[in-house]
Parts: sequence; C-alpha cells; structure tokens
Amino acid sequence: MTHDVETAAGRDFCIQLMDINDSFGIKSAFQVVPEKRYGVPQDLLDAIRTRGFELNVHDLNHDGHLMKSREEFLRRSAHINQHGRRFQASGFRSAMLHRNLEWYDALDFSYDMSVPNVAHLDPQRGGCCTVFPFFNGKLLELPVTMTQDYSLFHILRDYSLDRWKQQIELIMEHHGLMNFIVHPDYIIGARERQVYESLLDYLRSLKQQEGVWLALPGEVDRWWRERSKMKLVEDGNGWHIEGQGHERARIAYVHQDGGHLSFSFDEQLKESKSTTIRASTAQISEVRPQQDPGPPVLQPRTL
Ligand SMILES: [Zn+2]
Repeated sequence: MTHDVETAAGRDFCIQLMDINDSFGIKSAFQVVPEKRYGVPQDLLDAIRTRGFELNVHDLNHDGHLMKSREEFLRRSAHINQHGRRFQASGFRSAMLHRNLEWYDALDFSYDMSVPNVAHLDPQRGGCCTVFPFFNGKLLELPVTMTQDYSLFHILRDYSLDRWKQQIELIMEHHGLMNFIVHPDYIIGARERQVYESLLDYLRSLKQQEGVWLALPGEVDRWWRERSKMKLVEDGNGWHIEGQGHERARIAYVHQDGGHLSFSFDEQLKESKSTTIRASTAQISEVRPQQDPGPPVLQPRTL
C-alpha cells in the first residue's frame, strides 16, 4: 500500500491515515513532494518513520515537467537525490507516473514505483505489462498494478471494491505484486474513506486466510534483491537454495500436465498434499518440464 501526498490537505490527513492503517494492522509507504507544493514539517517526516511507515520522495515539485527533457530531468534529479538523502528514503515515484526508464540511472534510489503495468487511465499511456518487480539497471521497479483511487472514484465513478477484488484475484493467480496508490487527499471524504477502509479490511482478511504477504515496498525491494542473488544447487538429495535469505525461499517444481503447467512445492511433495498454491511469502521457482532433464531456471514468481 502506498500513498502519494498531493496537497496540503493530504499532508494534514497523513497522521489520521496512519491511525486508520494501524487499526487494520497494515503499514504503508508515504511519498512526499519535497519542494514548493506544500511545507514539509520535520515532525511529520519523523512520525512516518518512527511509527514504522515508509517515507519516499514524490517527484520534485509535482509540476508535470520532470520529464520535459533529459537536461531538465538530470538537473532536477540532482535535487531529488539530495531530498532522498534528507528523507533517508530508498524509494521514488514521479508525479502522474511520468517516466522515461532510459534516464533513470541518474536517480540515486534503491527502487522506483513510477511504472504502471497498464496505463489506459493515466496521462502517460503504456506500461510494463508485468505484475512482477524487475530491474532497470541498478534500480528495482515495483510496478503499480492496481487501479488508482482517483481513477476509480472520479473517472470510473465506482465506489465499490469490485474492480480491486477482480484485480487482486488475477494477480494472486499469478503470485504477483499488488501495488496500490491511494492518495490521502482523495479519501478525506466519508464515502471515499469508507471504501478505503473496506479495502484494508479485505486485505487483512487475505493475510489471515490466504497468507498474503502485506509488505512495505522497501521490504519487497530487499526480498527481490536477495532473491536475485540466490542459487539453486543440486546435491545428492535433490535441489536446495543457497544465498542470503534462503530460509525464506522455497523451491516450486513446475510440471507439464495435459498442456497446462502445474506447481508443487517441496513441502507438498513430502506431505503428499495437493493444496492450492497461494500468493504468499517468499518463493523461488524452478521451471523443470518433466521431459526435460536440464538444469532448473530461476523465474520471477511470487510475493
Ligand atoms: Zn502525485
């Protein structure tokens, strides 16, 4: 869950929003605009961090011109990086999901969240067409995979959870990343806030009943980096995982089954159970068709 703080009204709602999130046991990331839009009190930045939420940089001044030219982006990114150090932030998101991935090596962050998987309701069309994190040079991209609150309420005029639930189901089928943007500015009203609280309630139930990992983006970033360095090693008894964080990883075996792929995990093989695989914590996948005795391949799978 992520919150881009757009205006002074949104800024002033942040403390209350943290209270709401905490009442559902869900931490989130706040992206704060560092220049011009509104004052950024140090007290607020400290409160976000000390309460266990995450603080990131949102654009520079949110005027829509960050990507006007490469020269302008480079000039502004130097200031953005300075603010990132001041915020002690690991993550960045541009205004309005404006992006040019070829320029992003100028950003001094660990991860970025400016790329939607699809963007038919966003100012800049296109998208990365994946629900998995991916590396862009040294930067990890955590794609925005859920319809934004603004689009839902003010373009689609939908105040139900139906669309979000549909997207959640699709992403869980593929063990992907659900990355929400809900702006504090747009859920101040009672009706919108009620929808948001219903979403939190639903996410909490997914955690309790389906084992969904409700993580801060920084936690996802750390996991995906560790995962990218892990190795599958064959020993006398089969395969095991080596590398930092390996205790959180599991091997998934993929089989061809009547033209479809089916998964099984080590634990399931041992217990001879056939429970449904849930989008949950850390997993690592091996693709190993039954007919192919070749080495396993690490593939991005789950969060
Ligand atoms: Zn914004």
